[in-house]
Order: sequence, then structure tokens, then C-alpha cells
Amino acid sequence: EAKANGRNRFHVFNSEMAAATIARKRMKEDLSRALEEHELELYYQPLFSAQEPTLTGFEALLRWRSKSAGFVMPSEFIPLAEETGLIVAIGEWVIREACRQVGHLERQLGREFEISINLSPRQLLHDKLPQVIQEALEENCRRPSSLKMEITENILMTDSKLNQAAILRIRDLGVRIAIDDFGIGFSSLSYISRFPVDWIKIDKSFISDCANDPASLAVVRAIIAMAHSLGIHVTAEGVETSDQLSIVTNEDCDAIQGYYYSRPVPFSDLPRWIKSLAEPLENRCVEVAIPL
Ligand code: C2E
Ligand code: MG
Ligand code: MG
Ligand code: MG
Repeated sequence: EAKANGRNRFHVFNSEMAAATIARKRMKEDLSRALEEHELELYYQPLFSAQEPTLTGFEALLRWRSKSAGFVMPSEFIPLAEETGLIVAIGEWVIREACRQVGHLERQLGREFEISINLSPRQLLHDKLPQVIQEALEENCRRPSSLKMEITENILMTDSKLNQAAILRIRDLGVRIAIDDFGIGFSSLSYISRFPVDWIKIDKSFISDCANDPASLAVVRAIIAMAHSLGIHVTAEGVETSDQLSIVTNEDCDAIQGYYYSRPVPFSDLPRWIKSLAEPLENRCVEVAIPL
């Protein structure tokens, strides 16, 4: 009987696996049409300088409004886009679209913003990337230094010579380089100093724990001290509470990003959100009908 049970379980397991495989295949096919079907959209999460504090710019974050799967978050489809190589075309679109939209907003409001854009490993190594960035800057008359390209820590660890060259090529355009999700990988401090890095974003897991866990606070402190001694600026990502905000501000973080200030905002709501900055924090939320 145990054997029969085991076999049944195996069957169930197998058919679940098969269903998941089919779903993934379907999603990949849908994703390959998402660009031409205009199903991709950028949300913008505000970035604040820590000391003043003032709004300095936005991180562009992809969302997929799939006709078949509904509203899909990047954690679900970016891995598929990387596997299939679609990330190159999608990433190119993100760069152009973010520069175009934020450029539009800047003209509308008469002020400049910084834009942060995520780069996946595959995109970084693509030959055309510097040209795509250059064109997006020129077409929108952007200062290169107002664009920050975010790469994850593990890019520094793998194929380091190739990646180093690719990073140098885009940094030569005058754009800034940030290391995203810093602290969860294994890069040592000496590693970072070998790359032309302008910013480090401390991973949100340390920020969410720093108010309660002395070890996380120690990590946050060490990262900031190390970065500053190398001339690198630091962003605290995932700041949700006023306790966390005062800790990272006291620890001399340079920039803040997180739900405390705002969730990612759809482009069409940005002007309204920016205007509401003059109001107290509790009135500042934009109503959004869809999950963020
Ligand atoms: P990321 O680059 O580290 O972006 C920050 C993520 O943390 C975003 O999730 C953001 O919504 C979330 N976040 C911000 N503040 C808080 C907070 O206070 N609390 C919590 N719990 N979360 C917060 P999102 O938008 O789901 O994006 C997830 C990841 O997907 C990004 O992580 C990035 O690695 C990737 N991604 C998003 N857009 C793109 C893109 O255009 N290209 C590439 N290659 N990757 C992208
Ligand atoms: Mg990022
Ligand atoms: Mg991050
Ligand atoms: Mg990330």
C-alpha cells in the first residue's frame, strides 16, 4: 500500500510539474509578444536624498499587464525574459521609455530628475548596449550623469573581466553605476574597489531588520563606512518605517528609497504624486487600483 501511495504521489508530482512546465512555456510565448502588444509598462519609485530630504529622481520598474495572465510582477517574468534572451529587447525598451517619459515630466514640471534603470547580466554583455544608452540620452537631451544603471552584485563575481569591460564601456558615456541588492552576495570590499562603481544600494533585507537586529545594523554600518571610504555613495532600499529611516539617516546614508516615502507609482500618477509632496506624509498616497 505504501508503494501504491508512493506511486500516486509520484504521478501527482509529475502532472503538477508538467502543468508548471506548460504554464511557463505559455508565459514565455506571451512575453515574446508583450512588447509589440504594448503590454509592458513602467512604474516609478521615488528616490530621496537623505539629509534634506528631497525628491531627486526615480527608479524605473517594469510591470506586465498580460492579456492572458493579468498583472505580472517582474520577479515572475524577468527570469523568463533572461532565459529566452527577450530581456535584451525589453531592456532596450525600458531605457528608451524611461528617458522619454521622465523627459516629458521634466519639461512639464520645469525641473530635472535622476533615473535609475536595472540592467540584467545578459543586457550588460550585449554589444549594442552603449549605443542604446547613448541614443536614448541624445534623443531626450539628457545629461548622462542623470542616468544611473543598476547591476547586481553577482555580476561583479562572474566573468569578471568581460563584465568589467562592459561596465567601463557604459560608464565612459558618463552614466553612473550602482550595485543593487548589495550585501547578500559574496563580493568583498576589495572586489568593489576594482570596479568603477558610483553607488551601492544596501539590500532591503538588512534595512527591514536593522531596527530590531543588531547584526543587521552592524552590516548596514559596515557597508556605509566601507563605501564612503571608497568614495561610493549609498542608498538604503526598502525603508518602510520612520525607525528605519532615522537609523539609516543617522548612519549617514546618502539616499533613501522605500514604501515609507512611496511605492512605485504608475507614470500617469507621477505629476499628482509630486504635487502632493507638499502635503503631510499620510495624505500623500496615490490611489492605485492595481497591486504594486
Ligand atoms: P530591485 O531593482 O532591487 O527593485 C526594488 C524592488 O523592491 C522593487 O520591486 C520595489 O517595488 C521593491 N521595494 C521598494 N521599496 C520597498 C519597500 O519599502 N519594501 C518592500 N518590501 N519592497 C520594496 P519590484 O518592482 O517587484 O521589482 C523586483 C525586481 O525586478 C527589481 O529589484 C529588479 O531586480 C527587477 N526589475 C524590475 N524592473 C526591471 C527592469 O526594467 N529590468 C531588469 N533587468 N530588472 C528589473
Ligand atoms: Mg534596482
Ligand atoms: Mg534592490
Ligand atoms: Mg534587483
